[in-house]
Amino acid sequence: MIVRGSFSPRPVSEVRSEALQRPDWTAQGKRDPSLLWLDKNENMDPKLQSLTARVLSEIDPNCVSVYPDTAPLYHKLAQYLGVSPKSLVLAQGSDGVIGAVFRAFVAPGDTVLITDPTYAMYQVYARMQGAVTVKLQYAATDSGPLLTLEKMLREIANHRPKLVCLPNPDSPTGTVFDPNELRLIAASALECNAALLIDEAYYPFHDETTLQWIDDFPNLIVARTFSKAWGLTGLRLGYGVATEEVTELLQKVRPNYEVSQVAVAVATRMISDFESEMRASVARLNEGRDRFLKAMAKLGLRTLASNGNFCHVSFGSGAERVHDALRDLVLYRAESDIPCLKGYSRFSSTTSERFAPVVQRIKDALETRTLTRQP
Ligand code: PMP
Repeated sequence: MIVRGSFSPRPVSEVRSEALQRPDWTAQGKRDPSLLWLDKNENMDPKLQSLTARVLSEIDPNCVSVYPDTAPLYHKLAQYLGVSPKSLVLAQGSDGVIGAVFRAFVAPGDTVLITDPTYAMYQVYARMQGAVTVKLQYAATDSGPLLTLEKMLREIANHRPKLVCLPNPDSPTGTVFDPNELRLIAASALECNAALLIDEAYYPFHDETTLQWIDDFPNLIVARTFSKAWGLTGLRLGYGVATEEVTELLQKVRPNYEVSQVAVAVATRMISDFESEMRASVARLNEGRDRFLKAMAKLGLRTLASNGNFCHVSFGSGAERVHDALRDLVLYRAESDIPCLKGYSRFSSTTSERFAPVVQRIKDALETRTLTRQP
């Protein structure tokens, strides 16, 4: 029997809302493998990649065939971080932790306070929950994006939000609040009973953490990821740390089998045996970034230091020429139109060796410009 009829979808109002939109999931082109990928803030350090390739080749192939058993990773990670296994939640990237925080804490009409610009999914999850988002804008200054502590504290007190989301370092600004400032932010959130999500996706590119403050600030949730420093983006593994009372709530909204067994096996091995290799890779990338920025400054270009695994350069009047010259060499984010980063191009950190040809191309492009200007 063939049944014909029409179906009028009746999604929940938050999903029906025009404000909730996602990028076209069929449109993204495959990234050209012959180019250097510095567009998505991954860690493709060759030395770390050859280590993870070895670890992958050594994991039990049963990992692919079975439902995950996450308990050993909860215990291993707890030991590694010096927290209790019950104060942890595993998720698909730090993004999975962030989604769980919104599902557990944010109801329609609640206020969520975020920075602007910041990681785009905060706004998306807020819309999914039907929340009101208050955005604190970074100001554009000569030394880069600026959000003052005073503004942060004032707006938390004014809006008394349900949830405050703050990546530290923030993305794409690369800015940080120092530990003293973060304590004041945590205290002011606590004062109005707001949950505070400190997103440490870029730890330890920026080697400060609030992880040990969970006992002092019961409203604090720290999100971390294996996507950046550990170079395991494709495995989609992250974790949240909070009081046991809070993680119990986050566990209630987790999906069944929250992470894959391949991710569990690789991450368990990496944190057991290869922390120093991860740290050495972070040091190589930070060095590469700093040397790249120095080379750009030497060419008279404006640069913005960042505390994450990325940095910004403004090519000014030579921009078009530089973008042309880099087209068949490297993927990066050309010319931001975000007000506080206007005109800056963003490059993910890589090793000095991998940056070298990029630097050379930029130099050549700018020198050609000078030469063509000669009378
Ligand atoms: N937080 C911040 C600040 C980010 O920049 C990103 C991704 N770039 C994420 C979270 C999500 O990363 P993942 O889900 O891969 O851990």
